[in-house]
Amino acid sequence: AVVGRATRVTIDLGALRHNLSIARITAPRAKVMAAIKANGYGHGLERVATALQGADALGVACINEALALRTAGIEAPITLLEGFFRADEIPLLRAYRFEAVLHEASQVDALERSHFPGPVRVWIKVDTGMHRLGFAPGATRGTWRRLNALEGVEVVGFMTHLACADDRSHPATLRQLALFEESVEGLPGERAIANSAGVLGWPETHAEWIRPGVMLYGISPFLEGRGPETKLRPAMTLHSELIAVNHISKGEFVGYGGTWRAPEALPVGVVAIGYGDGYPRHAPSGTPVLVNGKQVPLIGRVSMDMITVDLRGQPQARVGDPVVLWGEGLPAEVIAERAGTIAYELLCGVTQRVRCEEV
Ligand code: PLP
Repeated sequence: AVVGRATRVTIDLGALRHNLSIARITAPRAKVMAAIKANGYGHGLERVATALQGADALGVACINEALALRTAGIEAPITLLEGFFRADEIPLLRAYRFEAVLHEASQVDALERSHFPGPVRVWIKVDTGMHRLGFAPGATRGTWRRLNALEGVEVVGFMTHLACADDRSHPATLRQLALFEESVEGLPGERAIANSAGVLGWPETHAEWIRPGVMLYGISPFLEGRGPETKLRPAMTLHSELIAVNHISKGEFVGYGGTWRAPEALPVGVVAIGYGDGYPRHAPSGTPVLVNGKQVPLIGRVSMDMITVDLRGQPQARVGDPVVLWGEGLPAEVIAERAGTIAYELLCGVTQRVRCEEV
């Protein structure tokens, strides 16, 4: 038996595999580089890598995540989406068969100075308008020439990242695509452009590779979208339970700062979840919470270990009754929107003290 709080996340491995199949069906000719950085978007790095064995490659941010995967016995191709940061990582790329995405001239310098670099496989990132990582479009050809001249370095291909694909009517996406195609025209190698929003909303961005992330976890990549609209299934459900039910009188206040006042006598449920678990502190009164599978509103401020809910819609609710904060039956996108953030942040932000179970 497990002691302590009932607070836990369940990770539905079947949902992860189902969502990968949606990516495959949507972009049938593309290979899939599954973005599993940041601890598999909070779902567990090794767990997600194992569940998504059907992917052609795994994308992580940095070498620490990649080494953790190899240590866990994951043999799949791994791409470091931010490349390497220090020249002493270069031998590790070779030893562990990591591909590195290069975005900076200093990385090319380091490869040139490295006496025995290879075999090392690299991608060239092109900045087509996001202005975060990547070579300027005009520098792409020169970068390719420098890398192609290096013995032991193989240029796999070219990448760019879409800044506004979550908005299906935004003009930036097709501008980025045109600039990318122009920058790499005639150069040999594979192309990788689409994030989840590109996969689901912009078929012209599919190319040889797609790089879905958030959709694999069952979250819609679109502004105001919800996973189930695109047949995605949420992989993570955050659960807790009622640990107290209090009956308060009309006019009483609830929680820190007394921000919520009872309009009449009512039952208040206390749930064992708070910002110390990764529930967003900025979720306002009215944010939906499922008690016994039925929606009730959050009331008052989110504390470190607890939230309070208005149980007028669930007058029979008792201590020990199950609560769902997001996931199955309550999209994380809804909670994120209420809290002024995105579901990505909620998924990545579940803290270590929350127990994790696979289902
Ligand atoms: N490719 C790169 C380079 C990324 O940084 C990310 C994540 O931000 C992805 C792909 C996956 O994006 P998404 O989770 O929106 O599908």
